[in-house]
Amino acid sequence: MGLQTIFRAVIMGPPGSGKGTVSSRISQSFGLKHLSSGDILRANIQAKTELGLLMKACIDQGQLVPDDVISRLILSNLKTMDHSSWLLDGFPRTVAQAEALDTMCSVDTVINLNVPFDTIKERLTSRWVHLASGRVYNIDFNPPKIPGLDDVTGEPLIQRDDDTPDTVSRRLKAYENQTQPVLEYYRSKGVLETFTGTETNKIWPHVHAFLSKRLSGNQQDTGKA
Ligand code: AMP
Repeated sequence: MGLQTIFRAVIMGPPGSGKGTVSSRISQSFGLKHLSSGDILRANIQAKTELGLLMKACIDQGQLVPDDVISRLILSNLKTMDHSSWLLDGFPRTVAQAEALDTMCSVDTVINLNVPFDTIKERLTSRWVHLASGRVYNIDFNPPKIPGLDDVTGEPLIQRDDDTPDTVSRRLKAYENQTQPVLEYYRSKGVLETFTGTETNKIWPHVHAFLSKRLSGNQQDTGKA
């Protein structure tokens, strides 16, 4: 990294690849500001902005919002963080979005979480949640004490609509078709770093070691692994 002090990173990976967990660990450990396109869109919906209301139907149906809309939104957010290091999560999701980002700045590294689709399907379709509290169970490795019921309240657990086998397959297909070309785009620019594995806790030390090396000299690592 030399004397460069601003570090711009993107994190990519299919739904259920552990991207959210790894992103928060990166921002905690290395002080990068975490910017999630999904969070920004949800905040717009919550605040009932014109844009949020327009995009709500799209998001509810699990479709991608139009490239020009999301690109304008993310780029204007990034402009306000001109002098900070950041980690973009959920954007770019198409090559057109990656090109739009390039018109503003170049990306230093793209962290790609490569988790086999079979692992993801198993993980998402065995996930059950207690709606009121947000408690999450996994029937394989973190089952509730009584099948189908929340440990604390005894209330029934539900499966998220988009975690059913059919919907998970559809979400993964969309990722394959629309987002994998973005990986090729960054590979050809020489900034793609792929981390392969089936467990977040086993992938994380490799991501941490890679970023420690890339950021050494920046003195941004607070030492928390
Ligand atoms: P996420 O939380 O990243 O899964 O995003 C939730 C929803 O927001 C997605 O299903 C899309 O409808 C929309 N969305 C988020 N990021 C993008 C993006 N980069 N391009 C298009 N739509 C997006």
